[in-house]
Amino acid sequence: MTKSIAVVEDERDVADLLRHALEKEGFEVRVYHDGKIALAELLRKPPDLVVLDWMLPGVDGLEICKALRREPRTAETPVLMLTAREEEIDQVTGLEVGADDYITKPFSPRVLAARVRTALRRRATGSSDSEVLKVGPITIDQGRHQVTADGKVVSLTATEFKLLRFLASRPGRVRTRLEIVEAVSGEVAVLERTVDAHVTSLRRKLGAPGELVETVRGVGYRLREE
Ligand code: CA
Repeated sequence: MTKSIAVVEDERDVADLLRHALEKEGFEVRVYHDGKIALAELLRKPPDLVVLDWMLPGVDGLEICKALRREPRTAETPVLMLTAREEEIDQVTGLEVGADDYITKPFSPRVLAARVRTALRRRATGSSDSEVLKVGPITIDQGRHQVTADGKVVSLTATEFKLLRFLASRPGRVRTRLEIVEAVSGEVAVLERTVDAHVTSLRRKLGAPGELVETVRGVGYRLREE
């Protein structure tokens, strides 16, 4: 499947160079010149990878990166930061906000394409998935793909696991069926009307802690913090 890359860069000539280099590699490329517009669009329709300039009008690259990491749908999206040479000192800050890699301007298009491929590959192997989420009696070990409820291991399907992880990523927050569909669909197609069935099954498997998965009538679901 064609991978989509979002390029956020206010300098038109650099943006054109990036578009050309990435399209030549067979990627589908979207370009944004404004930070604020870019952030809204990235959250609305997450790409497979973001090439993000540091210095931008509106919202800067660091803020965009932080915002992407906060949202479950984009938390795992690889981000390559572009930075001018004199900004190299800031690379540590960028890694702290969750950027995957850096490219210093001026860059060679060939090197850039290689770094994009590496970042996509690294994410595909899931090396940064080792976080453990804990909500009340429910523990989700993302690295081991294991869930326990009241200390007992629960056997979930891939879809149920993603569903629970999505709800647990922001306890208390209501998620619509559509958001759930978008978050859990990957290799499996999940329809809005089948979300209810997945939730019912997930609740049953969790046992007593399953009641923390609450129905919000007419909207969707949330995982209650006790
Ligand atoms: Ca710039």
